[in-house]
Amino acid sequence: MDELLLAWFRANGRDLPWRRTRDPYAILVSEVMLQQTQVERVVPRWHAWLDRWPTVDSLASASPADVIREWQGLGYNRRALNLHGAATHAAAHGWPADLTELPGVGPYTAAAVASFAFGLPVLPVDTNVARVQERTGHAFGSACGQALMDLGATICLARVPRCGKCPLVGGCPSRGRRYEPSRKQSRFEGSFRQRRAAALRAVSEAARPLAELDAEAVAALERDGLVCLVDGLVSLPA
Ligand code: SF4
Repeated sequence: MDELLLAWFRANGRDLPWRRTRDPYAILVSEVMLQQTQVERVVPRWHAWLDRWPTVDSLASASPADVIREWQGLGYNRRALNLHGAATHAAAHGWPADLTELPGVGPYTAAAVASFAFGLPVLPVDTNVARVQERTGHAFGSACGQALMDLGATICLARVPRCGKCPLVGGCPSRGRRYEPSRKQSRFEGSFRQRRAAALRAVSEAARPLAELDAEAVAALERDGLVCLVDGLVSLPA
């Protein structure tokens, strides 16, 4: 099954810019951005990020305020500070053997960097990979990571898989099945996330008095280290 999948991938794999590098920093940036943002939105932002901070040392030297500003629009802004923290750690001490020691790096992201940057024989299992493994009942080898991600993202879709186009259809016990809609991400419009994003955007332009802002949203941002509140004035961390 691995060979069928890899042959399909060679012909149909997505040409994503972070697949043309083995730089662990560039790959970590892509993986952190992809944690909660769609591929199409990540591509231009990944290029912009790498243009501005091409190395782990350059990001480590940046101010948290600039990092938060550059992240605007990607959502879940805490990821920006985690990425900055990871770069600071890697610049000072090198990449740890256990990548989950870096802030914001869980088992999946650690496995992705270990595999795609360092070439270690681990299979990063995201939701797409897990879905294909479950449906086929096959334990894929570590070389299949990117191929499984692409198959899950384009063919073995969550609700209505395109089994007619799938290279694994011959040996897949789940071929032809349909699935219940999966739980959707909660609505952004009118949510507390939206209020937080609005407050952070306002403060990103210039420091503002707390009285002009959504106090609850500011309190949450402050707890996450995304803003500072000093003498009634809210600003990005220096
Ligand atoms: S045959 Fe269908 S269910 Fe099985 S892996 Fe392919 S797309 Fe998914």
